[in-house]
Amino acid sequence: MAVTVESHGTIAEAQRALGSGAVYLGGGTILMRAVNAGLVQGRVVRSTDPSLSRIRPMGDGVEIGAGVTMAAIAANPDLGFLHPVVRAVGGPQVRNMASIGGNLFAEHPYGDLAAALLALGARIVMAGGMQRPIEDLLRDRSRAGLVAAVQVSRPRDPRAFGFLKVSRVRPKGVSVLSFAAHLPREGGRLRGVRIACVGLGPMPLRSPSAERALEGGALDAAAVARAAALVAEGLDPPTDALASAWYRREVAGVHLRRLLGRML
Ligand SMILES: Cc1cc2nc3c(=O)[nH]c(=O)nc-3n(C[C@H](O)[C@H](O)[C@H](O)COP(=O)(O)OP(=O)(O)OC[C@H]3O[C@@H](n4cnc5c(N)ncnc54)[C@H](O)[C@@H]3O)c2cc1C
Repeated sequence: MAVTVESHGTIAEAQRALGSGAVYLGGGTILMRAVNAGLVQGRVVRSTDPSLSRIRPMGDGVEIGAGVTMAAIAANPDLGFLHPVVRAVGGPQVRNMASIGGNLFAEHPYGDLAAALLALGARIVMAGGMQRPIEDLLRDRSRAGLVAAVQVSRPRDPRAFGFLKVSRVRPKGVSVLSFAAHLPREGGRLRGVRIACVGLGPMPLRSPSAERALEGGALDAAAVARAAALVAEGLDPPTDALASAWYRREVAGVHLRRLLGRML
């Protein structure tokens, strides 16, 4: 079957067009490989709605259109807290095309930016305006629908947010593991800890055990060691060509300790 590409001037039109079994095209770094391999057939829908490539300040945070690329985030001085994350995604060609919206739907071992947004408690704005926490979207991606934008608060203390990617090929390799940690402090105690990872499950997810080990306490070497020891508890890492589940489980604590150690 032939592939036809439809371009729609508004998100609303694109959403309507998707209603009848078409697939949405963001930057195409993943989808076009599937098209070229004959795995996607029929209708491909894209949108040229200007809001998809807009970055705008919003209260204590920012709203990033779903079509904004990694390169555009890296070039935006207001999004400095995300720069280490987007610079870790692929090489320059990939970053020029890869969108924040597409990263939310990228299968393992991808999803570095999604993990960072998960740690930061981002909210997803769907086409049509409905908002949902990023956790909900990541849990149910196959039926999620069209994402219009991502809203994320800036960490009040820039040192409270950290990101670490572990890959076999540097600087452009995909993740064996990635960790993002948001560790806000109030009066010397950690409040609202969020630790997210790529590589410890089928999609970017949080580590409830590591979060519990840190929440409410001081951030010191003992707390970091406790969180590191528990990070993979209750999680089910995948085995793939990069690493086995056993290996990911074994080394997860080492790398989380490294990241949190930098944030002490
Ligand atoms: C060589 C290479 C290296 C890479 N390295 C990394 C890496 O290091 N880290 C990483 O995280 N990823 C990596 N990726 C994966 C990919 O580039 C990124 O995840 C990228 O963000 C995907 O975005 P896209 O716009 O290209 O998505 P597309 O390919 O356009 O789409 C991917 C999926 O998302 C869906 N989608 C896209 N936009 C939306 C939307 N607005 N609403 C709903 N669904 C949508 C599409 O329908 C499709 O199912 C790499 C890819 C390649 C080819």
